[in-house]
Amino acid sequence: MTLIVQKFGGSSVSDAEGIKRVAKRIVETRKAGNDVVVAVSAMGDSTDELLDLAHEVTPIPAPRELDMLLTAGERISMALLAMAIKSLGHDARSFTGSQAGMITDAHHGSARIVDVTPVRLREALDEGAIVIVAGFQGFNRDTKDITTLGRGGSDTTAVALAAALDADICEIYTDVDGVFTSDPRVVPLARKIDRITSEEMLELAASGAKVLHIRAVEYARRHGVTLHVRSSFNNNEGTIVYNPAPSPEGEESNVEDPIIAGVASDLSEAKITVVGVPDVPGKAAEIFTIVARTDANVDMIVQNVSSAATGLTDISFTVPKSQGQAALTALSNAQAEVGFESLQYDDQIGKLALVGAGMRTNAGVSAKLFDALNKAGINIEMISTSEIRISVVTRADSVNEALRAVHTAFDLDAEQAAVVHGGTGR
Ligand code: ASP
Ligand code: MG
Repeated sequence: MTLIVQKFGGSSVSDAEGIKRVAKRIVETRKAGNDVVVAVSAMGDSTDELLDLAHEVTPIPAPRELDMLLTAGERISMALLAMAIKSLGHDARSFTGSQAGMITDAHHGSARIVDVTPVRLREALDEGAIVIVAGFQGFNRDTKDITTLGRGGSDTTAVALAAALDADICEIYTDVDGVFTSDPRVVPLARKIDRITSEEMLELAASGAKVLHIRAVEYARRHGVTLHVRSSFNNNEGTIVYNPAPSPEGEESNVEDPIIAGVASDLSEAKITVVGVPDVPGKAAEIFTIVARTDANVDMIVQNVSSAATGLTDISFTVPKSQGQAALTALSNAQAEVGFESLQYDDQIGKLALVGAGMRTNAGVSAKLFDALNKAGINIEMISTSEIRISVVTRADSVNEALRAVHTAFDLDAEQAAVVHGGTGR
């Protein structure tokens, strides 16, 4: 029998109607002769509402209690969903993360899954029941406490269940039709992608595409889980995120795949420039050791050539805005020791990333990207590349225009504008 794991996000179960609609969909899958395991998120924006409530009670809620509170959201949706399925005449049973055997480390608020022991889920499946699991939550064996996986973590729950139960497919239901070549709200001619490798999906997610939780994609890649991202509002085929079979050495794989998968943007980063750094060995190491101690996730780094006259150089890098202040403070405290002249902070930057496995074997992708930006009159401030991605930093207010220009230049435009459903974006 085929085993299908389905994940439904908060927007798909935002009210009783939504729960009933999703229940029908699950029952249809069951009736088609499949075993079904469902991971469900909290209803609508209820996780945010619980968070707001916690902050009304205290400015810094205790992490253990916050996890207790937030996991209540998924308990509500899982129980309601199981009831709705039962009322349609099918057996269904809901399980919390700990009942489902979702074992994590002890990190409240961002726990990592270390083991999945789905004994009770297997029993329920063997007895013919549809299994509903609370997304986003787990249990630590040492502290015996309830944990959460971080915001948006239900995707990861679904993928971990699919891996542990050796499911045939993991369907991620959302309020859009799949993964798009760019954000349809910014690029109206964005196209739905039919198939994308998990490697490309990972780069897109890391570059600002929000449709899938990055940790879920990582998990799927590591455990060989195939994902199907699709809408819960229609029956259209969505996007398959797959792990290509490794090709023999030296052979080009997927030659018929498009060179570019998509283009994403990110406005959440800021640029820090360390001005007037002595151009001698060890300075970059010093600077980034100081920054690393603040736990900042440094993304792009650019060092200019030093001027012969002064022997000084500038080093710029990007970090999430939320971590910018801490990095600045740490650097500023070490100014005398490192010997730089000053610091600059710029939070008006935008990042654009072009992603595609095909660029490995295609020369001229960066030239074409830079040319498209040039024709649109957009100045590039920083550039970084990986095997399958090229990222550039521009002014924040030109990144949307850059996105459209690049989308067109790489022939990604669809003939018709994409339909964009509401979506809360929260
Ligand atoms: N309910 C949690 C959140 O809003 C988990 C999820 O939606 O995946 O972050
Ligand atoms: Mg949610």
